[in-house]
Amino acid sequence: MKNTYFTPGPAELYPSFYTHLQTALDEQIGSISHRSRRFQDIYRHTDEQLRLLLNIPATHRIFFTGSASEVWERILLNCVEHESFHAVNGSFSRKFYDYAQSLHKFAHLFEKPFGQGFDAADIDVPEYAEVVCLTHNETSSGVQMKPADMHKLKRKYPKKLFCVDMVSSAPYPDLDFGLIDSAFFSVQKAFGMPAGLGVWIASEACLEKAERLQQYDSLTIGAHHTLPTLWKNAQTFETPATPNVLFIYILGKLAEDFNQIGIANIRRQTEEKAKAIYKFLEGSEAFEPFVKEERHRSQTVIVANTRRSSADVIASARMANMVVGSGYGKLKDSQIRIANFPATSAEQVEQLLRQLAR
Ligand SMILES: *Cc1c(COP(=O)(O)O)cnc(C)c1O
Repeated sequence: MKNTYFTPGPAELYPSFYTHLQTALDEQIGSISHRSRRFQDIYRHTDEQLRLLLNIPATHRIFFTGSASEVWERILLNCVEHESFHAVNGSFSRKFYDYAQSLHKFAHLFEKPFGQGFDAADIDVPEYAEVVCLTHNETSSGVQMKPADMHKLKRKYPKKLFCVDMVSSAPYPDLDFGLIDSAFFSVQKAFGMPAGLGVWIASEACLEKAERLQQYDSLTIGAHHTLPTLWKNAQTFETPATPNVLFIYILGKLAEDFNQIGIANIRRQTEEKAKAIYKFLEGSEAFEPFVKEERHRSQTVIVANTRRSSADVIASARMANMVVGSGYGKLKDSQIRIANFPATSAEQVEQLLRQLAR
């Protein structure tokens, strides 16, 4: 019997992935040239469907990278001359900050304890920080920052570039790209694909910054996938290097499927399933939600404290062909993480909750 994966990435594959993969193989997508008209049509289609799904305006372009963590480096190299600002409350937001330090940027850190979240009112961005790095969904702790708070913060600091890690939540967060300059995700989380493709959305303001930094002798914006090169290529729906054509194709098809369902429905279904999970955790003797503040609770990666060893919980679920994630880092043995992505239905979530209730 097949497993259902409730792991927060890689995760359960979206049901229609199989059909799209088969079609791609039948159409020999794996062998076409990335300099062909056929590829340009694929890029254009994926671009169109993602724009529709995430409400991305013409001021922003969509690029493909190897992964989301690659985009951390791309943003820091292309958009930060000296100083970046990082709201950190877990392992992924921390890594974004670590990358900035490794690249010798002056990285400002505003840190909250694991399990706590950020509101706009908490955050003071230092005067000389050029880029504000926010994480919509901190996958390690199950904490989410509301887009409304991100938008409010940008209005307070309109001159700074705002970048949002939406890796383990896209397409769920309703970001206003009139305010958010850049956002990024990878496909092995809520899009329900295998790993191997990152998506980077960046604005004209980001491009202008990169073009300015590119002129300085004292600085490098990198050699691989610089924003000006990606941008120039994207104008004709091309890429600087040979991309993951197969996955760009499948991502476009899945985004089209999501658009057919409607993003409002996907968001509502996500919230309904999350509500059922949190309600179960709150009413349970064996579990409790890890994140105390309701407004900071993630809708897409739900973290629970477990009374017994989480290894036991995970093993029992596994016997019933359901795979849940372990806690992150030192909470590995006292927490579980449940991904609530579009690939798992309300029925599958109910089934998991019945199993956890045993
Ligand atoms: C998984 C994840 C990443 C890293 O994505 P990769 O595809 O592994 O590079 C970054 N940020 C968050 C919040 C994540 O969940």
